[in-house]
Amino acid sequence: MTISNYNFPTVIKYGAGAISLLPGILQDEGVKRPLIVTDRGLAKLPPTEKTRKLLEDAGLAVAVFSEIWGNPLVSQATAGGKVAREHKADAIIALGGGAALDVAKCVAVLLHHDGDLLEYEAFLKNPKPIDKDIPYIVAIPTTAGTGSEVGRSAVVSDDASHQKKIIFSGRLLAKRVLLDPELTVGLPPEVTAATGLDALTHCVESYLHASVHPMCDGIALEGVRIIAKHLPRAVEFAKKIKAGDASVLTNAEHIEARGMMLNAAMMGAVAFQKDLGVTHSCAHALSTVCDLHHGLANGIMIPYAMRFNSDVSNDKLAILAEVAGAKEKSAKGFIDWLVAFNTSLGIPKSLKEVGVKPEHIDPLIEAANADFCHQFNPKPVRPEDFRALFEEAIR
Ligand SMILES: [Zn+2]
Repeated sequence: MTISNYNFPTVIKYGAGAISLLPGILQDEGVKRPLIVTDRGLAKLPPTEKTRKLLEDAGLAVAVFSEIWGNPLVSQATAGGKVAREHKADAIIALGGGAALDVAKCVAVLLHHDGDLLEYEAFLKNPKPIDKDIPYIVAIPTTAGTGSEVGRSAVVSDDASHQKKIIFSGRLLAKRVLLDPELTVGLPPEVTAATGLDALTHCVESYLHASVHPMCDGIALEGVRIIAKHLPRAVEFAKKIKAGDASVLTNAEHIEARGMMLNAAMMGAVAFQKDLGVTHSCAHALSTVCDLHHGLANGIMIPYAMRFNSDVSNDKLAILAEVAGAKEKSAKGFIDWLVAFNTSLGIPKSLKEVGVKPEHIDPLIEAANADFCHQFNPKPVRPEDFRALFEEAIR
């Protein structure tokens, strides 16, 4: 019998206002010089200012590194590592979406580990060990998607090749996670929808994975149930804000929808310790080749990918249909639900609508085939299968 690995994450504080716990958490640990790692966009917005002020008011010598944008790059992590060393940081406050959280983990590595970040890359034949001090990490997500706040790995792209590289160590798990829905109420509808669909894809792909992991399966199914209920609500509230209705920012139902999406995103990431599948290989390729947003790429591809999987995952897809509240409790019912769900969230049906062109298909197949996620798909994915998937999705 194969021995399964069950890994459950760290101490998580959930609730509106959870960010206010941060100074006390750091003081209890004897932290004096925290570095906030966030992205360029967020650096100018209230969550960063609020966090900085909380720490300054508590007498901590806080600095901010915010040179992170787009799909995260090795050079961004290297620049952050330099700032962390100059500041003599003793804690990393990872604040932001998946990119900021992933770069923050790399910054935590580079603070006390010499050399180039890619020398520590997990898939090298002989990676350098991550065996020196790792500062105290607090992760505070401001999007509900990747769930990187409870992950042990960081994904960053090589600047030249744009290939995704993985830095992995159990020691990169944040010591504390603060899930504060008030930090996510300002997300625009498009970002809310795309990041939420990333979380949905994590739940679905990890549930389909063949390994024995009843705890993760339960979490994945509940994650799908939460997303089916709360993602449309969160997007509707975001649309109202976009239309100028600022009163919605503090609406209790809005905070609830955002909070449940933060939970679901975190649950998706807990579940995908089982691994992912073909949708993620397609999405990684679409980010590498066409610079497409990861969540948007997953959202567009998941109905096609589940149709591809439906012959071997028939029973599990039928259970997902039931959990999601699909009209028909079958694999087809779940796929139809995915299509309708995407439409309701304003996600395009075709890759053509997001600028993917027929000449991208060959490089997409190459990148998807080189990605590791599809090795964990419930059925093997050959290059000709990727061709069929991309050709169907681009129509
Ligand atoms: Zn993902």
